[in-house]
Amino acid sequence: MTMPPVPGHIWWHSALDAQNHLYPVRDEDDEPEDGIYEAACEKLVVKDKLVREEYGPYCHDCLLKLGRHQAARLEDHLNNYVSTYDDSKSAQDPAS
Ligand SMILES: [Zn+2]
Repeated sequence: MTMPPVPGHIWWHSALDAQNHLYPVRDEDDEPEDGIYEAACEKLVVKDKLVREEYGPYCHDCLLKLGRHQAARLEDHLNNYVSTYDDSKSAQDPAS
């Protein structure tokens, strides 16, 4: 499984948790001064643990960031579903 390319971002593998995270694209020579990279999910990884390749599972939080619009729509849908469910349930309850 590979993700479609994300403009301005790249999937890189973190050896810290063995997952791919979404990082802002950097030039080869453009490393953070402190050697710490921050992923879209705000997890930090030191340079030594960052593998500039894409393999293994994908970080759920980064995927959510990537698809936050879809996630928000899904959340709306679920909220509607829950409120519909509660309505029908309370409608069946005899008023006391
Ligand atoms: Zn992540």
